[in-house]
Amino acid sequence: MRRRPRSTVRGKIMLPLFAGLLLCLLLVACAPQKEAYKRQFFSLGTLVEVSLWDVDEKRAAEAVRQVEEIMNDAHRRWHAWEPSEITRLNEAIAEGRSLAVSPATATALTRARELAAAGGQLFNPAIGRMIALWGFQSDDPPHGPPPAQEAIDALLAQAPDMEALWIDGLRVGSSNPAVQLDLGAFAKGYAVDLAIAALRELGIENAIVNAGGDLRAIGSHGKRPWRIGIRQPADRSEGGILASVETHGDEAVFTSGNYERFFYFDGQRYHHILDPRSGFPAQQAVSVTVIGAEGAATDAAVTALFVAGPERWLEVARDMGITQAMLIDADMKIHMTPEMARRVHFEIEPPAGVVIVENGPA
Ligand code: AMP
Ligand code: MG
Repeated sequence: MRRRPRSTVRGKIMLPLFAGLLLCLLLVACAPQKEAYKRQFFSLGTLVEVSLWDVDEKRAAEAVRQVEEIMNDAHRRWHAWEPSEITRLNEAIAEGRSLAVSPATATALTRARELAAAGGQLFNPAIGRMIALWGFQSDDPPHGPPPAQEAIDALLAQAPDMEALWIDGLRVGSSNPAVQLDLGAFAKGYAVDLAIAALRELGIENAIVNAGGDLRAIGSHGKRPWRIGIRQPADRSEGGILASVETHGDEAVFTSGNYERFFYFDGQRYHHILDPRSGFPAQQAVSVTVIGAEGAATDAAVTALFVAGPERWLEVARDMGITQAMLIDADMKIHMTPEMARRVHFEIEPPAGVVIVENGPA
């Protein structure tokens, strides 16, 4: 009798093994996708969402509790018009006094001052009086009328900026009594950094801390990266998603838009991002998105680039060490650095087109 060829014997064993493996793969593919652990709460005037991947319930709950505490602490300490360390400091500065602040506040102000300097004071958190003059320091929706030109001119003449703020250990003061701090363009980013640091302390490596669409993401969502949506600028929430980016490692994604807080008066639209040079809402951009390494710097940068507008934004980005940036101008045309263009996936056809602009060497 002829011996059976060996391959057939092997086939008898291999075939079921292979089929079994295939079945396993199919089952895995068909199994419902595990979801990230997500919790939301209100803080810093916005909805904050914490997403965690692959963290057990107990640790996840503790992590969210800590993040909420950090955000609420930032809210209480740095609020621009509810009684806070910042409002106390503003009172002291207006009276020509200095004030001893907490280490947390001294560190935050030092960072804000560095970023204001890097951004040529276009991100200028010392213009609190101008922001209040426009009615944007209020829990109620802003409504106008816009301030009188004379009132704007009077504040411009006093030229408050972060150069005039001195920080000596915990003691803070200013040579310019017109300096009034408003950390609205920076505090969210700074607090998101503190929250991510706390998650890391807990050993959490895969997370997003998202404060109203401005976020920092670390690690991944299991086998795939975190995917972040960028809003289509529009007056109300009908904007929808314009584009998405996938984050890698540790990245902050921030957007500043003129649709976030605004009012119409006499048919004219006025929004909350002020050009410190004119005292008026910055007119040449409708939104700016930056992917950066750190929440605080990315938050400050989106505001500075917004104010700079399409003519000067690349220069300011370079000064602030930003390479991945996108600006939507007043005609809805999208400007992107090549580094940003490589990251952005459009979810809809950009209505007014896209230009990719090289940011040459400094
Ligand atoms: P953001 O959405 O990060 O651009 O922050 C906008 C908020 O920052 C406003 O609501 C103001 O409180 C404040 N702000 C407006 N204009 C400026 C500016 N040029 N520099 C710094 N803070 C600003
Ligand atoms: Mg900002």
